Amino acid sequence: MTEQAQERTKAQQYNYNKLQKRIRRNTGQAIADFNMIEDGDRIMVCLSGGKDSFTMLDILMSLKKSAPVNFELIAVNLDQKQPGFPGHILPDYLESLGVEYKIVEEDTYSIVQDKIPEGKTTCSLCSRLRRGILYRTAKELGATKIALGHHRDDIIETLFLNMFHGGKMKGMPPKLVSDNGEHVVIRPLAYCREKDIIKYADMKEYPIIPCNLCGSQPNLQRQAIKQMLNGWDKQFPGRIESLFRSMQNVVPSHLADFELFDFKSIDRDSGVINGGDIGFDKEEFAPQQQEAVAEFDPSLMLDVTNVD
Ligand code: SF4
Repeated sequence: MTEQAQERTKAQQYNYNKLQKRIRRNTGQAIADFNMIEDGDRIMVCLSGGKDSFTMLDILMSLKKSAPVNFELIAVNLDQKQPGFPGHILPDYLESLGVEYKIVEEDTYSIVQDKIPEGKTTCSLCSRLRRGILYRTAKELGATKIALGHHRDDIIETLFLNMFHGGKMKGMPPKLVSDNGEHVVIRPLAYCREKDIIKYADMKEYPIIPCNLCGSQPNLQRQAIKQMLNGWDKQFPGRIESLFRSMQNVVPSHLADFELFDFKSIDRDSGVINGGDIGFDKEEFAPQQQEAVAEFDPSLMLDVTNVD
């Protein structure tokens, strides 16, 4: 190996270590902030074969070694019998890791094809079926938590999707009870940036299974929001971080949801709430944020407003 090649390898190793540390740190922080993992937990790690779930399993396995609490991991993949699904990839990979795992085989693909007329979107029925199967599996396996691989950018995208298309300020919770009321669902990667996960998955050379085997079209609304956020990230570094911080720093008294905050009972005796109303004054922002507002390029919004 030439000296230059050796150098490159060292540099790559350095970058890999740094990246792994950051993802581990962010995951550990999210787990602690939301009390995601407790002593004695048996966590069902949902593995789709995409970069996010591979990364989640990897980081949880590594955190398990040094965690102050004892917990078990069991990786679960649902083989939905989509045409061309390479059934051997995940079992081979999971065997090599030595982690407990279960592959659940259920032909939801045929059910969806059968029930949904051609040209209509298949995702909502497909994910409803998948959710039901995963909940049932969690019960069978005695899992106390279900871990999903959504990351920070998924959470922000969902917030914008709900605001733009649903008229609702609602993201994706790092921890919540499932819709059937039976399982605690956690998202350990809630603080991790997608671009870190992409780089990490690339360095780890995971055996990624393509996510378009079902032949479904990508969600155009989500794609448009992703594009908008990526544009912002390039044009205004730090904006995405600020956006996510804002989800952790909500001031209900300064929004307009009268069910979330009791505006009706406010009177002169209520005192100053969260800094009070500043009348006709404008909000003050740090200089960098002011600059970002002044340089805003409205064309970045076009993709979103054009979505049907
Ligand atoms: S993209 Fe395919 S596999 Fe994924 S939810 Fe939609 S229909 Fe199901």
